[in-house]
Parts: sequence; structure tokens; C-alpha cells
Amino acid sequence: MLVVTGSAGFIGRRTVAALLAQGHVVVGIDRRTPARRGDREIAIVSDLSDPTDDALTALDEADAVIHLAGRPGVRDADGDVARLRRRDNVDAGQRVLDAVRPDVPLVVASSSSVYGGADLDRDGTPLPCREDQPLRPRGGYARSKAELEERCRRRAARGGHVAVVRPFTVAGEGQRPDMALSIWLEQARLGLPMRVLGSLTRTRDVTDVDDVVTGLLRLLDAGHATTVNLGTGHARTLAELTRAVAEATSTDWRVTVADADAVEVPATRADTTRCADLLGFVPTTDPTDLVRRQLAATDRHAMTNGKP
Ligand code: NAD
Repeated sequence: MLVVTGSAGFIGRRTVAALLAQGHVVVGIDRRTPARRGDREIAIVSDLSDPTDDALTALDEADAVIHLAGRPGVRDADGDVARLRRRDNVDAGQRVLDAVRPDVPLVVASSSSVYGGADLDRDGTPLPCREDQPLRPRGGYARSKAELEERCRRRAARGGHVAVVRPFTVAGEGQRPDMALSIWLEQARLGLPMRVLGSLTRTRDVTDVDDVVTGLLRLLDAGHATTVNLGTGHARTLAELTRAVAEATSTDWRVTVADADAVEVPATRADTTRCADLLGFVPTTDPTDLVRRQLAATDRHAMTNGKP
């Protein structure tokens, strides 16, 4: 029996679906109630910072665990965000680390934000971020993930199995509404200019959610207890990404550029060497195709919920 935490979330839903498709029995744990997808999925509604007995039992009895529950979002402006990030990214993570038996494979979602952005070479080209370079977390979200990674290292130091993944800007069907591509899609559909933070030459390594799921599953299968980037190695400019949104929505390319907060790093780019070596693949993103898929999924969701 496999356990996926954060199973009602963007990446969690697709991870559970992929595991079910492989024939596994999956226990999903989330504080939100997930949509159920058949007999082999068991949903436990529990806040992992103060887990219920059934959540603790599932974690204790699991054959493997993928821990995705957390509070994402670098620009979350909730007044109470520091406490909520600590609760959901650090405290809940610690409860999972404590509850999963040491010999059981555990994959934990950190974030590319722990790098604090990619350095630029003399031409301004972003340099790939390697898993073994020093971390420079910028902002509360990144720091909470760096703290979670530290807790993972402590489990490993005690002889526990744990792997850490650092996904880079994940996109695709069901992307969270607070993420840039979702916001731009909505703005384009409403006939508004897309609001870009910083400048159009800033970059993001955008990763297909299906590749992230593939990476998680391969990491579990291979049993490597290490830290792996899940990114494409390509830095896409915000100009390129907004153009993909305009193309997918058949709208004119219209953007406004606003000041970026200090937590918005100028560039991100994954080094993919370790992913290729250990997991046998490198994520690839076709921005226009990815945005089209995301848009189609949003439309399907709106139809199902009775909106035009
Ligand atoms: P999401 O918000 O869609 O999903 C997270 C889920 O975790 C939610 O369903 C939420 O209810 C649940 N959750 C949060 N705190 C919980 C708690 N204390 N107890 C139980 N459930 C809790 O986020 P996502 O985009 O699917 O991200 C999944 C993970 O991957 C997160 O840890 C995030 O930080 C990390 N990550 C995401 C991205 C990205 O681009 N989406 C990039 C890097 C890392």
C-alpha cells in the first residue's frame, strides 16, 4: 500500500492517478477532501501537523510514501503566512518523517526555490542549479523548504531512507490558480493584458506535471535516497511563456510589466545530470502544448461545474 500526502492538490491528484493506473492501492492523505477515483483509492482527511490516528496508521503501515502536502507559493501574502508555512511545510513534514518507518522509501517534495535563483553568466544566460551547490533560500517559502530538507537529512543521518525532489515551476492540467501561467490564462481569456513581474527577459524552468509525476514514481522504484532536481534544464523567458498563452488562447499578445518583489528570483534553471543518471530521463516541456493542455483542462473543469 502506497501513501501520497497532499493527494487533493495539483501534483498529488496526478500522482495518485498514475499510481492507480499502475495497479497500486493508494491511500491519499490531505486536509481537503479529494475526489475519489475508484476502489483502490482510500482517502483520509487529516491535517498532518496534528494527524488523526488513521493517518498515522497509514503512514506506519505504508510500503512507500510520497510526501507532497505543503503550503506552496512564494508570493503568498496571507497575514499569517509565516506560521502557516511553518505548520504545513515544516511541522507536518516532521510528523510524516517521524511516522514512516526508517526502512520504508519516503520521497519528500522540496522546491527549486531553495536555490534562490540561478546565477547568470557574462552574457546573462542562467546557469544550471546543481543539487550539491550551497542553498540560498530567498523568502519565507524557500526557507521553510530548506528547513524541511534539513529535517530529511536528520532522518537520513539516523539511518532512515529519504529522497528529496526539487521541482521547478510545475505546469499542466489542474495547475494551482495562484501560479503565473494560470493567472495569465485567466487574464488573456478576459481580454486583459498579462501581468508580468520584473521583466520579460526573466526566466523560469517550467516543468510538465506529468514529468514531475514520472520523476516521483521512478525515484520510488529505483529506491535512491538522494536529492534530485525535477526540471528541464531550459530557462524560458517570460516573453516566451506569455506568447505561448496568447497562442493557446488565440488572443493578441498583450502584457504589462510590474515591479517584482524581492522573493521573485530573476531566473531559474535545473541541472538535469542527476535526474538523467539516476532516473533515466530528462523532463521536456513544449510550452505551447503544455499551456493548451492546461487551458483545455480548465475548460473541462468549468463545464463540469456548470460554468460557461
Ligand atoms: P497544492 O497546494 O495544489 O497541493 C498541496 C496539498 O497539500 C493541498 O491539497 C493541501 O490541502 C495539502 N496540505 C497542505 N498542508 C497540509 C497539512 N498540514 N495536512 C494535510 N494536507 C495538507 O500544491 P502543489 O502545487 O500540488 O505542490 C505539491 C508540493 O510540491 C508542495 O509541497 C509544494 O511546495 C511542492 N512544489 C510545487 C511546485 C509547483 O510548481 N507546483 C514547485 C516546487 C515544489
